[in-house]
Amino acid sequence: MDDPERPAARSGARRVAVVGGSVIGLACAWSIARSGPATDVVIHEPDDSGPDGVPAKGAAWVAGGMLAPFSEAWPGEEAVFALGVDSLRRWPGFLAALEPHVPPGPPVRTASRTHMLAVDEADARDLDMAMEWAARQPDPADSAHSGPALGITDADLRRVTRRELREAEPSLARVARVAYRMDSEGAVDNRVLLAALTRACRAEGVTWVRGAVASVDDVDADRVVLAAGAGSAALAGLPVRPVKGEVLRLRARPGCEDPPRGVVRAFVRGRPLYLVPRDGGLVVGATQYEHGDDRQVTVGGVRDLLADAETVFPGIGEYELAEAIAGLRPMSPDNLPFLGADPADPRLIHATGHGRNGIALTPVTVAAVLATLQGLAVPAAARAAAPDRFTRG
Ligand SMILES: Cc1cc2nc3c(=O)[nH]c(=O)nc-3n(C[C@H](O)[C@H](O)[C@H](O)COP(=O)(O)OP(=O)(O)OC[C@H]3O[C@@H](n4cnc5c(N)ncnc54)[C@H](O)[C@@H]3O)c2cc1C
Repeated sequence: MDDPERPAARSGARRVAVVGGSVIGLACAWSIARSGPATDVVIHEPDDSGPDGVPAKGAAWVAGGMLAPFSEAWPGEEAVFALGVDSLRRWPGFLAALEPHVPPGPPVRTASRTHMLAVDEADARDLDMAMEWAARQPDPADSAHSGPALGITDADLRRVTRRELREAEPSLARVARVAYRMDSEGAVDNRVLLAALTRACRAEGVTWVRGAVASVDDVDADRVVLAAGAGSAALAGLPVRPVKGEVLRLRARPGCEDPPRGVVRAFVRGRPLYLVPRDGGLVVGATQYEHGDDRQVTVGGVRDLLADAETVFPGIGEYELAEAIAGLRPMSPDNLPFLGADPADPRLIHATGHGRNGIALTPVTVAAVLATLQGLAVPAAARAAAPDRFTRG
């Protein structure tokens, strides 16, 4: 496991190993390394197959990159929603700190608002119900609620008329029965984010061991952060399962309709769809299947995504189909990640199980991991994500 290229640990420095070097592992490694000079941080990650050595087989390379607590809101998922809102509020500071490390080219942030719409009557009813639920979640004035205040305003979430939708997103078909606008959401370019985080880690002296960890016990470090995505179940016995998702990347061609200006999400024929603007094109996602470790793109998945996308954005037919790719979301049973110290192994800190929202939840995950390392309380919204929540009596 030892890498001869790796500089020797400084004597007296605390050694932190991060297992998994995709979005969560990179962000944790960077933040730990910059939080104090007396820490050596090593990432254990087998995959350097992307440009400049970034991992291109994890979910983060595949993802849509949406920062989407409001458009993902669902009744009953209070803790998931609160964690997502907390993380969304941390994104501006996180991006500002990362800015010096963003490589030349497109920015990390690619969209700064979302429209969520429903095409069919049943989907419109569900959307209204979910958004009304989200808007009612605890506000700072609600002293009776024990959870964190979310401070939701109209800028986060408001119903818009079809005319307002048309003015904001003129390239969309006029198919929306109901539409909501979320001005604090949007998206990041997940691949630029991975590149920037990799550079940021290098700048802070983080080093890599190129290999998969077979057992956490084999890792020679004072603390170990587990950030192995769908690989985490095998390493720590956590209930994290792989949930397959397919996305398409489309490239604009001369003369084709401009992509939507912000993120557009929709329910079409009961299926969720999103269109995420990217430099020179857009990402269309995403399917969802419980197929285990299967990363093959299927004809049916591509067909459904294109049919639903064309219903909402008819101009899509002129785009180049540049890439079809599948990845594995690391899902937990309650859609919350596992954040914080392992109850049985004091060396181990969990930062895994982020399911559909690992990009969005990166800043709050980093905050929870840093607090755990420093012996401080994790952010209030992260308490519900305690690793022992399924096992404690
Ligand atoms: C189709 C799709 C669309 C998505 N869209 C969004 C979105 O719009 N917004 C959002 O917030 N999230 C989205 N997600 C979810 C998001 O991608 C994940 O939640 C996120 O990538 C989790 O990050 P991670 O670093 O934990 O895991 P991953 O990105 O999956 O990376 C895990 C890493 O761990 C490494 N690893 C595994 N086992 C070991 C081992 N034994 N030893 C060492 N390393 C190991 C792997 O090589 C890999 O690099 C999407 C996911 C998919 C599949």
